[in-house]
Amino acid sequence: MIGILQSMATTMKHALDGQTFTIEYPESVPHVSPRFRGVHKFSQERCIWCRQCEIVCPNDTIEIKLDDKRQGEEYNLHIGQCIYCRLCEEVCPVDAIVLTQQFEFTGDTKADLVYNKEQLKNVPWYKGLDPLASREPTRSAWVGEIDGEIDYQ
Ligand code: SF4
Ligand code: SF4
Repeated sequence: MIGILQSMATTMKHALDGQTFTIEYPESVPHVSPRFRGVHKFSQERCIWCRQCEIVCPNDTIEIKLDDKRQGEEYNLHIGQCIYCRLCEEVCPVDAIVLTQQFEFTGDTKADLVYNKEQLKNVPWYKGLDPLASREPTRSAWVGEIDGEIDYQ
């Protein structure tokens, strides 16, 4: 009983102090934590088609097709079934796949939420946030040492 009263008091305190925790989206742009995991960005230029991301993915979100010379033909990501665990990003040896903070994407059908490599390449950074820099600075520095800049095009 005391716990209920305490929680009601907390609710009333926040209800009456005039603070607002909601925004009028999409007129107002929400702040997204640097650790938020949104849709992926993929760099075909970086990818070595090792398939590690496809193998580690726990629910078959990533689908890679190679030609008979083991060169990449297709990289499809079924974003509608992704659980944003970030295992694909962690396992990639060349940082070819990263999760952005981008959450503004929709689709009317399941097929609309299958992104091919061109669509993944064109996923915009959310508010210009670079997820590697905000989450793991040392890893970002390592990326920078390779090419001079982060270049997920
Ligand atoms: S974030 Fe997790 S579920 Fe989504 S594609 Fe990567 S490994 Fe698969
Ligand atoms: S783990 Fe990285 S390099 Fe390997 S196929 Fe996936 S995106 Fe490409």
